[in-house]
Amino acid sequence: MRHFPTFFDLQDRQVAVVGGTAMALQRIRLLLDSGARIVLFARTLEPALAELVLEGHLVWQGHSVQPGDLAGAALAFVATGSLESDAIAAAQARAEAVPVNVVDRPELCDFIMPAIVERGPVTIGISTGGASPVLARSLRGRIEAALPARLGALARLAADFRDRAKSAIAGAAERRRFWERVLDGPIGAAVLDGDETSAAHRLQALLDSGAPAEAEKGAVYIVGAGPGDPDLLTFRALRLMQQADIVLHDELVGPEILNYVRRDAERIYVGKIKANHSKSQDEINALLVEHARAGKRVLRLKGGDPFVFGRGGEELEYVRRHGIEAVVVPGITAALGCAASAGIPLTHRDHASSVTFLTGHTRDGELATDWRVLARPDQTLVVYMGLSAAGKLAAKLLVAGLDRGTPVAIVERGTRPDQKVSTGVLSELKTLADRHQGGGPALLIIGKVAALAKKQSPEFTALLKEAV
Ligand code: SAH
Repeated sequence: MRHFPTFFDLQDRQVAVVGGTAMALQRIRLLLDSGARIVLFARTLEPALAELVLEGHLVWQGHSVQPGDLAGAALAFVATGSLESDAIAAAQARAEAVPVNVVDRPELCDFIMPAIVERGPVTIGISTGGASPVLARSLRGRIEAALPARLGALARLAADFRDRAKSAIAGAAERRRFWERVLDGPIGAAVLDGDETSAAHRLQALLDSGAPAEAEKGAVYIVGAGPGDPDLLTFRALRLMQQADIVLHDELVGPEILNYVRRDAERIYVGKIKANHSKSQDEINALLVEHARAGKRVLRLKGGDPFVFGRGGEELEYVRRHGIEAVVVPGITAALGCAASAGIPLTHRDHASSVTFLTGHTRDGELATDWRVLARPDQTLVVYMGLSAAGKLAAKLLVAGLDRGTPVAIVERGTRPDQKVSTGVLSELKTLADRHQGGGPALLIIGKVAALAKKQSPEFTALLKEAV
């Protein structure tokens, strides 16, 4: 490690910048956040730099750097745009023993600038030792994607409570365990979910409880896993999947998605419970509370979005009623996933000004709704769990006045590698639906936009090619 990573406190320190170029401006923008007193040496200025000078953010010396100018500066940055002036300024800095960075001239640098990822006070600097700035930037992209947007808020909460935790918990090791549990547990999850106020209250309550080093009560994370393709998980879903101690998942969540759950998390398949018992939802609710009470972080992983025909609402009510903290993470619902991967725009300026999600599987088996409203021609209907009821549904729509020739599409196993799409018209919906029975989850899409569907799955296209 030739370039030694350190984080330099520049608050109220003088920092010299030599050059009035766009590159100098970039450096200055970063420096402005550090609280440094910036002195800029340049004969001419980029307009944006001139603005910063006028606004009083930095002091401008309208001449190039002279012997003695840099004395006392903590650091110097050089970006004059001329090889010769760069070298003169760098030599000047060295003569004054001021560490210098020259933009794009590694051979003249005492220190190099990392690629930076920032989340409030949390700062990550990435260096390849000058080997490849492009690689550093690509790593930065990956780290940006992996870090929660509200990580800064979490760091601030920890800073606010640092002293209080210190006086409440005597042992250093105990205190470390306490913080690990807070930051990786339900309180941390609440902050990252945007609920800083309640997180702060809970943290205070924990410290006031007299036994702060005890495990905090567990929590339930009700998380949407999207329609099947793991790439459609949200960052937040992924993060909670990697923190959970135990996961309750059902049929719609396939092995490709479960692969992303923390390796040593206990897994409970609750699809079986549903198939065999009439009180299944009650059992699932009870399991959620039982494990959370045991101090576990319980992940309730659900297909699509938990609040769209997913009974997530009931689970949320139940766990909250039992005094358990819950975090809900939205997922891409099947309608959106299937529409995208089948090439069906759910709304369209020419064909559909609204879209309705409905279920073909109601509690009492009846499709009670106002069919005249649904039978309007200028809208899209998306039916979840609609295969068995497809005949009944088509009949209701036809009676209510929707045209027999209205396009329909069925998307089976949408977004998965074995997705199948079939298209037709409303009068043949039942026949189409029957062909998909037993093939996996499927959605019915009814309305003019359905005619825009890509006609077949990639798999089917491949088969056709083989046949030719
Ligand atoms: N909460 C889920 C829906 C659960 S209801 C969501 O938001 O997507 C289960 C129904 O969703 C299935 O019967 C099917 O109609 C639909 N569904 C879920 N995943 C699907 C997929 N990948 N392709 C097609 N339909 C799907």
